[in-house]
Amino acid sequence: MKGAVEAVVGAQWGDEGKGRVVDALGPGADVFARYQSGADEGHTVVVGGKKYVFQVLPSGMLYPGKVCVIGNGAVIDPGALLGELGGLQDQGMDRARLIVSYGAHVILPYHRSLDLARERLRGKRWRGSGGAGPAYIDKFNRCGIRVEDLLDTDDLREKLELNLEEKNLILTRIYDSEPLSFDETFELAAEWGKALAPYAGDGGLALDEAVRDGQRVIIEGVHGTMLDLDHGAYPFVELSSPTAAGGCAGLGIGPGAVSRVIGVAKAYCTRAGEGPFPTEDGGELGAFLRERGRESGASPERPRRCGPLDLVALKFAARINGMTAMALTKLDVLSGLEKIPVCTSYETAVGAEARFPCPGELSAARPVYERLDGWKEDISGCRTFEELPSRAREFVEFVEKFCRIPVEIMGVGPGRDQAIFRGPGG
Ligand code: GDP
Repeated sequence: MKGAVEAVVGAQWGDEGKGRVVDALGPGADVFARYQSGADEGHTVVVGGKKYVFQVLPSGMLYPGKVCVIGNGAVIDPGALLGELGGLQDQGMDRARLIVSYGAHVILPYHRSLDLARERLRGKRWRGSGGAGPAYIDKFNRCGIRVEDLLDTDDLREKLELNLEEKNLILTRIYDSEPLSFDETFELAAEWGKALAPYAGDGGLALDEAVRDGQRVIIEGVHGTMLDLDHGAYPFVELSSPTAAGGCAGLGIGPGAVSRVIGVAKAYCTRAGEGPFPTEDGGELGAFLRERGRESGASPERPRRCGPLDLVALKFAARINGMTAMALTKLDVLSGLEKIPVCTSYETAVGAEARFPCPGELSAARPVYERLDGWKEDISGCRTFEELPSRAREFVEFVEKFCRIPVEIMGVGPGRDQAIFRGPGG
């Protein structure tokens, strides 16, 4: 699909395998763009048996000659970005041209300190964001530091002086934490500015030119739809909008340019943090999915919560994103299960139907399951839909029928080639 924008968005609670889907679409695409978040959010791509984890860079960095854009909607940690870039450069794998938008906001050391201090004050239930939260707050408060500010040291000095004076008051008087040194903060920010200068540019304009030139642009979300600041189960949400519309806003492209919205979902569900998770399975099935699917997040001490596929939530994601296609990853993880439960509705204690994402209703909701027949075969070598066992095909067709969205991509393993394409433009 040339001359159009395709959005790849998380249709669950994140970690759906968006990075590998973007990577799989890579050969046919010209431009890759990231539009929101953050720090400490991993996209994992496996190429030739080697694992690459991108916290900040778009997944397309591994493709020679492509353009990768980080949009205004992103909040970036330049230290992490430059570290990631340096790592790729050392391996000769920084193959794409990178554009970091002038308007992207920067996470500074005081954002991390504020995040940690808030985490300490609010206890375990508060999940830190690697500084992204306070950086987003500054953005909305119109005192954020943007990439363009790092490039002009006089301007940077003035803005940082004002910011640090205020942040140090908050850190010391409210949180009883250590203040930060202005000189150290300024030096670091100015150094980042120098290192980022060759990459700084107008991401929105580059995307517009690409579309006008008939190029194929893929925009990739971080997190998942259920964590959307506006539409997720608030307050258990992230700080930005991971939806397709969030992509348009964060990159500066008109919604009319988006021709395909691919929602990425695992063949089951996981959730990394606190908050309502209707199909969570604390028993054998949850343990099976966690082990088989290697669902343990960045640190092994934080295993993800696991459970069966939640079609009520997936249908909600389809609506919120205007999904036109689905990518169903980790189908291989389900091999060997005799029966595969899938949630088709929620029931309240009095038997009424509950909705997604209303948290009050959700915490009391009981998932209602249909139990589909499983398959025994190892499907990791299948490369066409027809090669899949009939029960695996029936599972996929059930999901499609329920959500009324075609499943155009299936993941049968983490490798670049372990994917099945059924739709247009693969
Ligand atoms: P993202 O943030 O949505 O890109 O997802 P993550 O990278 O956090 O997590 C997805 C994990 O699942 C990665 O380790 C992938 O290598 C792995 N993965 C993705 N697709 C498949 C698949 O189809 N099968 C298996 N077994 N693993 C997969």
